Amino acid sequence: MDIIRFSEIVKSERVAYKYLKEQCWQKSIVYCIRCGKQRVYKLSSGRYRCYICGLTFSDFTGRWIGKLKINARQWLWIIKLFELGLSSRKISRETGISYPTALKAMNLIRKSIVAHTQDCGLLLEGEIEADESYFGGRRKGKRGRGAGNKVPVFGILERNGFVRVEVLKDVTAESLLNLTIKIVRRGSIVYTDKFKSYDSLMFCGYRHLKVDHTKRFSSGKVYINGLEGFWSYAKERLIKHHGVSKKNFLFYLKEMEFRYNNRNADLLPILVTYMCDLVSNVL
Ligand SMILES: [Zn+2]
Repeated sequence: MDIIRFSEIVKSERVAYKYLKEQCWQKSIVYCIRCGKQRVYKLSSGRYRCYICGLTFSDFTGRWIGKLKINARQWLWIIKLFELGLSSRKISRETGISYPTALKAMNLIRKSIVAHTQDCGLLLEGEIEADESYFGGRRKGKRGRGAGNKVPVFGILERNGFVRVEVLKDVTAESLLNLTIKIVRRGSIVYTDKFKSYDSLMFCGYRHLKVDHTKRFSSGKVYINGLEGFWSYAKERLIKHHGVSKKNFLFYLKEMEFRYNNRNADLLPILVTYMCDLVSNVL
């Protein structure tokens, strides 16, 4: 969304509210968010009540944007500044919203991203790069595989396509294979490095080719440079949010996956759709 259109939407609370309301109710059809029936009536307060189950609710009840007491214009500004990659401290400064509220709002955006991208059923296929990387922790101590306080992350990238990342409990063959099977269509070519946990891939219906990192130049198509590009992209962006807790790490990581997969898309309308959706109980 270009800045002219955005400024029109946020010029007043009324217009901003109308814009978000349209995203909440497809074709302006209001239904009960508990029983799903369309038999609802409007109360003088502007809220709705269901004839069938008696639930009273408003436009934003049960949705991500209904989880904080901030108005429609503020939400749109937060989503816009999130799209631009600002930190929660900067968003707080720019919008006048308190830092704890800005932080909560940004974490809700991240959670809505996870809710919409987790288990979406999309299988990657064709030429696939798989690799793990280690995030967080201080520079002291062991690095790479087996590093104590770092979080292992598994990444799978479809060349010229999407990337999927998951936090790992460990880097055993079992963990890596289970995730690969969940994410990658059988019959695909999977490129990895020489880490032995990948050795069983060929027994699981994949064509497995190993990259030799000791050779200075990767030969032909056998490389994992695409994924290495994603790791540096994600790490560079995560540095800005120094001190991400382990509890929230997955959400930041999924934000990076989302940004990468939508690198050519207009993020604001996508994020608004996610935020206006009903919150499922999965998270
Ligand atoms: Zn109902």
